[in-house]
Amino acid sequence: MSEQQVETAVLEEPAPVRVVGEVPDTSKGVFRPITVVGNPVLQHPCETVTAFDEELSALVADMFVTMYAAEGVGLAANQVGVGRRVFVYDCPDDEGVRHIGVVVNPVLDELDPAQRTLDESAEGCLSVPGAYADLARPEYAVVRGQDQFGKEVVVEGTGFFARCLQHETDHLNGYLYIDRLSKRDRKDALRQMAELTPRYEVVPNA
Ligand SMILES: [Zn+2]
Repeated sequence: MSEQQVETAVLEEPAPVRVVGEVPDTSKGVFRPITVVGNPVLQHPCETVTAFDEELSALVADMFVTMYAAEGVGLAANQVGVGRRVFVYDCPDDEGVRHIGVVVNPVLDELDPAQRTLDESAEGCLSVPGAYADLARPEYAVVRGQDQFGKEVVVEGTGFFARCLQHETDHLNGYLYIDRLSKRDRKDALRQMAELTPRYEVVPNA
């Protein structure tokens, strides 16, 4: 492809056509520093949420503010140091649809083998700042849980959004994406992280 063609291809890329979910009100939220690999809160399964109260709504508002400030597409509660099963997302899928929402107590559906088509793409994480690595994951995911008011939700994703749903649920189960890499790729990701200063405030590891 010539340089001209590359430019044309970029210009012709369609803008997001549809939003699934609601753009959150971030006026009441505050940024919370982000935990990074090595912090124990990222290495243990988070606790089930039982109280759908104002404290939870405040946590969700802060998580959206934090995710946007750090320019992420998803954020799990233990990434702001809270070991509870909550994640937020604002993430495009491969069709240009923008998905926004909250899942409390998420559980991924087991896919039948026919649905398990793997997609190998680059993945990154706000808790491993500056690092990216290719990782194969199913290109389709369904997660079930509740919203911040306790209402049942089912969120279905394809492509990059399916990756996000799996990545965030992994966080709440105590796993980082680098835990799914080969030893060599994990080491490389940690080296990439060590070479960069994060562009947002992080919680220093003890
Ligand atoms: Zn992450």
